[in-house]
Amino acid sequence: MSKKNSSAKLPGDVSAFVRPFRVSDPQRFRLKQFPTDEKGGLDKEQAQEILDANRDRLNDLQERLYAEDRWSLLLIFQGMDAAGKDSAIEHVMHGINPQGCDVHSFKVPSSKELDHDYLWRSAIALPERGRIGIFNRSYYEELIVVRVHPEILAKQRIPSKLVTRNIWRERFEDISAFERYLSRNGTVVLKFFLHVSKEEQRQRFLERLEEPAKWWKFSMGDVAERGLWDKYQAAWQDAISHTSSAHAPWHVVPADYKWFARVVISSTIVQALEKIDPTFPKVDKKASPEYERVRRALLAEAPKP
Ligand code: AMP
Ligand code: MG
Repeated sequence: MSKKNSSAKLPGDVSAFVRPFRVSDPQRFRLKQFPTDEKGGLDKEQAQEILDANRDRLNDLQERLYAEDRWSLLLIFQGMDAAGKDSAIEHVMHGINPQGCDVHSFKVPSSKELDHDYLWRSAIALPERGRIGIFNRSYYEELIVVRVHPEILAKQRIPSKLVTRNIWRERFEDISAFERYLSRNGTVVLKFFLHVSKEEQRQRFLERLEEPAKWWKFSMGDVAERGLWDKYQAAWQDAISHTSSAHAPWHVVPADYKWFARVVISSTIVQALEKIDPTFPKVDKKASPEYERVRRALLAEAPKP
């Protein structure tokens, strides 16, 4: 197939970049079976064409979402350190009007946040109707870092009687129920796990160390967490298989090639918004004579030559 032909059909149907990475059979989900180095048969140039087309579509869809003011979209970004969460978010944001979008980065909880249940800080950060909310990390950390480090759980001051061996199963249930509740109220939830290989993480850490301009991104703690790689992967395996649902699906995004990760993410968002298909509010017919009167009045105010 010539390049011209292949790119001619690119912008239309993006499902080939969405479906393979969506977790549709959670019971049989195996993180290890999802690729980290997939490129979807694209080269960088073809990927750029898709990204440009997706950006235009996203721009239009977001304007309609905002104008309709009914639905909202919650995008959750997770992944190991250096998986590319920040740059993926930067890229998504690039296509949309900042007025219709909020980004929240979730860090180690503050003492005020620890005075509440763990979903509280997320609940107050949820997107309003008509808006797109982006979570850079999220309440999913409660199933991951908190599970890998039991001492974090101990600091949450949950009454000890309530902390049993069922705690992770209970959190899976509560998070799934929370997301179902959101979906029933008009928030469409999409979750992205940026899936990098351990080798790619090693190279990205090295890059951060070798370039002084990137030192700020490097933390010694990241190396310690890298040592716990297998524990993190096991926690993700369990979390994704227990919290993937039709109303809040996980997408395991191959993230070794950042440009392909962007294709998957932007295609998934475009597809979800096209399914919502937001429309501009209809102007009340009865108001149109009024509009005409105002229009004439404004015309009459024109400065005299
Ligand atoms: P970064 O995203 O690199 O700025 O790092 C944020 C840090 O906050 C990561 O080490 C996360 O594991 C940590 N973090 C985020 N949410 C939580 C949470 N709920 N409990 C404990 N640590 C968290
Ligand atoms: Mg970091």
